[in-house]
Amino acid sequence: MQKTTKKALITGITGQDGAYLAQLLLEKGYQVTGTYRRTSSVNFWRIEELGIQAHPQLRLVEYDLTDLSSSIRLMQTAEPDEVYNLAAQSFVGVSFEQPVATATITALGAVNLLEAIRIVNPKARFYQASTSEMFGKVQAIPQVEDTPFYPRSPYGVAKLYAHWMTVNYRESYGIFGSSGILFNHESPLRGREFVTRKITDSVAKIVLNKLDVLELGNLDAKRDWGYAKEYVEGMWRILQAEQPDTFILATNRTETVRDFVTMAFKGAGIDVEYTGKGEAETGHCARTGKLLVRISPKFYRPAEVELLIGDPGKALRELGWAPTTTLEQLCQMMVEADMRRNEQGFSF
Ligand code: NDP
Repeated sequence: MQKTTKKALITGITGQDGAYLAQLLLEKGYQVTGTYRRTSSVNFWRIEELGIQAHPQLRLVEYDLTDLSSSIRLMQTAEPDEVYNLAAQSFVGVSFEQPVATATITALGAVNLLEAIRIVNPKARFYQASTSEMFGKVQAIPQVEDTPFYPRSPYGVAKLYAHWMTVNYRESYGIFGSSGILFNHESPLRGREFVTRKITDSVAKIVLNKLDVLELGNLDAKRDWGYAKEYVEGMWRILQAEQPDTFILATNRTETVRDFVTMAFKGAGIDVEYTGKGEAETGHCARTGKLLVRISPKFYRPAEVELLIGDPGKALRELGWAPTTTLEQLCQMMVEADMRRNEQGFSF
């Protein structure tokens, strides 16, 4: 493979996508600047798990997305050809508790970067991590790039602002600003606050007698889940296109949270049977009758997104991108990783 001499800037390298994207770009020969937040103990477990933390082409820089002057300095020192804005307050549940912080980081943070590009480095290509949560109360099935948006959480609203600012900077200033509307994508590197990873980690703990019961909110929510490693390849392709644009990355398959739970237990050799409805629904081991799953209202959201399913046809036609990992394979991969971690006595 021909190696590139390009430079990339990734905000949010400590997150799931940031880690996989850094790995991909380093393989392609990029010089990568990855940003992390100042906290009392910085968490590099993902880039450590991928074995890239000490890569000679990787530079880690402390940065807070909410600070415009830092964004300008970052753009001056990193001199990137490509900027991938992955940093965000990315958890829907937390956005209801912290709407102002979510807006400051997730919405205004993107504008700080766009301004820094406009002022310092207008030739840099910009990727904005947009989300299917912007479709919220869906107006069409499946969702495509021009389906009207109807976000149902402060997170979705904040992301929609950042999305439109990306489009606006493209149209107003000629900046190469592209937006990837990504549907849920998961992996063994997913944070444990997200439902899929919470499920696979809990299944591992239940099997190893470290947890009694898995507690969840709305089991009927339907999501389009893909494999994160394939989605970061899509992000890269979006920035290699001739023109800046908006693309959906999705699998065009939707399943309920309940289906994912069933799949995850099956991955650990357990069949689950469900009884009851709504908050009274429970899941039991088909063989022993042991209670495995119950509903806790504390995990319900003030406004739910019931159904997401994306059509990635445009990405296939124009970028040659298509997902190949099935949900069953993804779920199995996550259960196995969590079994291994829990057996070894640690779980991130
Ligand atoms: P993560 O939550 O795993 O990562 C988010 C990253 O943002 C972390 O590195 C986090 O740092 C960083 N961050 C948070 N606040 C700030 C701040 N104020 N300044 C600088 N950095 C900050 O998300 P993912 O990797 O899963 O997702 C990447 C992006 O894609 C996000 O923007 C997300 O909203 C979006 N997205 C994700 C989807 C998914 O299914 N994964 C679907 C669609 C969009 P720290 O480690 O310190 O918390």
